[in-house]
Amino acid sequence: MQVARTPADLRAVIAGWQRQGQSVGLVPTMGALHEGHLSLVTLAKQKADRAVATIFVNPAQFGPNEDFQRYPRQEDADLALLESAGCDLAYLPGVEVMYPKDFATSITVAGVSQGLCGDCRPGHFAGVATVVTKLLLQALPDLAVFGEKDYQQLQVIKRLVADLDIPVRILGAPTLREADGLAKSSRNAYLTPEERRLAPLLFRQLSQAAQRIHDGAGATETCRDVIRALLAAGFDKADYVEVRDAATLAAIEHAKGPARILAALWLGRTRLIDNLPID
Ligand code: AMP
Repeated sequence: MQVARTPADLRAVIAGWQRQGQSVGLVPTMGALHEGHLSLVTLAKQKADRAVATIFVNPAQFGPNEDFQRYPRQEDADLALLESAGCDLAYLPGVEVMYPKDFATSITVAGVSQGLCGDCRPGHFAGVATVVTKLLLQALPDLAVFGEKDYQQLQVIKRLVADLDIPVRILGAPTLREADGLAKSSRNAYLTPEERRLAPLLFRQLSQAAQRIHDGAGATETCRDVIRALLAAGFDKADYVEVRDAATLAAIEHAKGPARILAALWLGRTRLIDNLPID
């Protein structure tokens, strides 16, 4: 596996492959890799000749009181995991490479960025949209893979690629879970043993709620019940539990077409997010 740390080195390797007629799939990550990330690399390798993973803990998508400083960083372990997953190139730009001191641009995506995590984390999706746009333009891949685990983020990226005519195909990949249903996440490492025991309740409650709404229950009451059950079980705070149209993320009360139930709740100092289809 090759490693690049500057846009010029990244582009040189990718352009070489593309000149030989090979297609390239990009997998942006913030590192602290787990099997969920590696499943995106596997999908990229299935859909393209070459897989490129990026590791960059993007300061622009963290709020001032969020976990940027304590976000887990494990470069050597991550490189070994990427290599074992068949990744061809890892791109690890420094902050000064991505945001030189005169950097002044921000990309905001209206509509799908609003509500849900957009309301709880002001500026978060502008940070994501800006860094993903930079990574796509630096790499110029044929396709890029993002997880449904971050469902709103996936819709934001699909929107910006369509709006800005960036010539790349965006693929969504299903959420990989622990045996007990908890969505794999780099932030699960923050959980205490007691919190880890409670955490899979989120998936269980969302599964039941998705079934109820599918069977005709109203979204408002069902989501209220989910929040009540999780707080009673020991979750500390609910940012939201909501039902949205699967593509536009518009709020809906009854699922008539493809819909999604999405949630963000706190267990101690850890913010967990998850979502499931209703169809
Ligand atoms: P992150 O490093 O958390 O920014 O995630 C990088 C990419 O991996 C994003 O596209 C995420 O949606 C995706 N991802 C994170 N967790 C999972 C998971 N459990 N299953 C599948 N994809 C995931």
